Formats: sequence, structure tokens, C-alpha cells
Amino acid sequence: MIMMKNKLKMIPCASCGAPMPELRLTKFGYKVCVNCSEVGAYRAVTTVHGSGDHTYNDIAIMTPDQYNTYKQTEEASTKAAKSLRKE
Ligand SMILES: [Zn+2]
Repeated sequence: MIMMKNKLKMIPCASCGAPMPELRLTKFGYKVCVNCSEVGAYRAVTTVHGSGDHTYNDIAIMTPDQYNTYKQTEEASTKAAKSLRKE
């Protein structure tokens, strides 16, 4: 008997049609390829609201686009705050 080593059956991604291992669907339940599942993944970000003694934490669910924008905004404001302290 010959074992089919490392020979994965490929099926088309349900989203973009690119070939992906059938194992992703049968074993992990993903209908889309790695690229598509990363694009579709939502990010949870802990945010702090309020000021002084009246702060509360919240969790924001963001799409990858929103998350990137959030990170860029946060990095920009951190840099701005640092440069302000220098002067
Ligand atoms: Zn895909």
C-alpha cells in the first residue's frame, strides 16, 4: 500500500477561488483560504472611556480596516504626545 504523503487534496476557496487544502474545510471548518479568513477576521480592542475617576473599559469589535485605522491613529497621537513633551 502506498501512502500519499504530504499530498493534500486541494479545493477552491469559497470566496476568491484560490486553491486551498481540503483539510481546512473538513478538519477546521473553514470555507475560505488563509488570505480570505484573515481579511474577514474581526479584532477586539479594549478601549478606555471617560476621564479622571470616571473611566470605564469597553470592548470595540473592529473590522481589520477599522483596526488598522485605530492603530495608526493611536500611534500618531502617541508620537505627537512624545514630541510635545520634548519641547
Ligand atoms: Zn480565498
